[in-house]
Amino acid sequence: MDCIFCKIVNGDIPSKKAYEDEKVLAFYDLEPQAPVHVLIIPKEHISCAAEINGENSAVVAHIFEVAAKVADELGLDGDFRVVTNSGIKAGQTVKHLHFHLLGGRDFTWPPG
Ligand code: 5GP
Ligand code: ZN
Repeated sequence: MDCIFCKIVNGDIPSKKAYEDEKVLAFYDLEPQAPVHVLIIPKEHISCAAEINGENSAVVAHIFEVAAKVADELGLDGDFRVVTNSGIKAGQTVKHLHFHLLGGRDFTWPPG
């Protein structure tokens, strides 16, 4: 499958890793939108949040556990945002489920 995040998982495209285990990978975003901007992805290809279901949702709980751990390791002290964009209108550009872990600055709400 022609998916850049699958290629990052299998090492065909290099990335700066923040965390890895058998189920998930966390790596630094190429175009950071905050002082800390890490992407956390399932190693299994799931195309977007709209494709999360009872069969594959366990990894999402694990991703949030990893988000808390990475945020702590990077010194965010509990202040961070986790975002996933599902679909073109929401701004999804890479069709492999990913969660943006953003921190190190103030954020506004609502988002644009
Ligand atoms: P989306 O717009 O789909 O929510 O987020 C995709 C993110 O992936 C963007 O923030 C973009 O900068 C990042 N990205 C795209 N290609 C690469 C890549 O090859 N390596 C890394 N580290 N990040 C990437
Ligand atoms: Zn993929």
